Amino acid sequence: MSLSHLAQSIATSPTMALNEQARLLRERGEAVIHLGIGEPKNKAPINAILSGAARLSSGDVKYSPADGIPSLKKAIIRYTEDNYGVTVAPENVIVTSGAKQSVFNILYTILNPQDEVIVLAPYWVSYPEIVKMVFGTPAIVTPEDGSFIPRMADVERAIGRNTKAIIVNSPNNPSGVVYPEELIAAIVETCERKGIYLIMDDIYHKLVFDGRHAPPCYQFTDKDVEDSRLIVVNGVAKLYGMTGFRVGWTIAPRRLVEIMTNVQSQMTSCVSVLLQAAAEGALTGMQSLVESLRLTIQNNRDVTLQELKAFDGVRVTPPEGTFYCLPDFRAYNGDSVALAKFLLDRALVVTVPGKEFGIEGHLRLSYAGTVKDVTEGIARIRWALDPNSPNEIYIGDRRMVRDWV
Ligand code: PMP
Repeated sequence: MSLSHLAQSIATSPTMALNEQARLLRERGEAVIHLGIGEPKNKAPINAILSGAARLSSGDVKYSPADGIPSLKKAIIRYTEDNYGVTVAPENVIVTSGAKQSVFNILYTILNPQDEVIVLAPYWVSYPEIVKMVFGTPAIVTPEDGSFIPRMADVERAIGRNTKAIIVNSPNNPSGVVYPEELIAAIVETCERKGIYLIMDDIYHKLVFDGRHAPPCYQFTDKDVEDSRLIVVNGVAKLYGMTGFRVGWTIAPRRLVEIMTNVQSQMTSCVSVLLQAAAEGALTGMQSLVESLRLTIQNNRDVTLQELKAFDGVRVTPPEGTFYCLPDFRAYNGDSVALAKFLLDRALVVTVPGKEFGIEGHLRLSYAGTVKDVTEGIARIRWALDPNSPNEIYIGDRRMVRDWV
């Protein structure tokens, strides 16, 4: 079969693949615990449901403008004002099919073939693949001190003649760290000085713990959005636990949004009006649920850290946001792909290998599920790896005996 070399070189989304694997195992009646998942368990906010349902029952389900329905864009402008203190025009906003499509569309819009995009490791798995899909080249910057915070000197060193953009995701998937103010300030300053785009993926910006605040890029410029190189991506997926609604957006200079809109008009035409209506309902409805979701996840984070403490060899950087952490399992196995497979086979726990995020020897654990998932999942991992743990455990109603360590 003759297929595109480029398309064939694109890796499958490991998290989507793991979701499918977990679903199949569950279907077979296996007591799988999914610590790989990137979505909270809450039901969609009632205002989102009512607003989407009202649109559906009106029967008026047609194309919308390619850049989004005006009333949703208005809600996004309001959100930008309330959360960032920044006023933008409707021409600075485009609604996309999830934040993921925003990232794709932005990169498609700004890159020429072989242009480079700096991606900071550990990174969200999709960034390098999307860069490649639009004929760009990812330039990965990895912290050498074993931390999850890149050093500005390394970022500067990675900038070359072909560098077009830097992607920053803080709070960070997969590590849960929030980049310090000085780093965001230095990145904004460098991007402006060198004429490089800064793509801030703010999808987790409200999901931060212990009274912290994720420094927004706007804080470090006196230019307004129109004259800046700042592009901010957001969406309803993590904010309201509305992952399946597939609504995200981008805030950027008008010319960029104009081209993104042309691209989108040829690609998807627009996001479904039903889902746009639902997103608008979420954004204009009661916001207290964002805080209660945040508190639930913060509690899960605390439980996760508590449970991980029981491991002698596992080192963990306490997450300051998101619903992920990225413990270092090298004391048990340096090969994260083999380790994740082992844990799935022996303990029926889904984890995501750090290798997928550009950081070998670690596993990404999600605490977006229930406290029970977290405690039982980590207890099973400990049973499978740690010789100091009891060598018997119940998995579902099966008594399992460890005979390998
Ligand atoms: N950016 C990051 C960092 C993410 O973790 C995710 C989802 N896993 C996305 C973007 C995609 O969000 P959406 O579901 O809105 O496409």
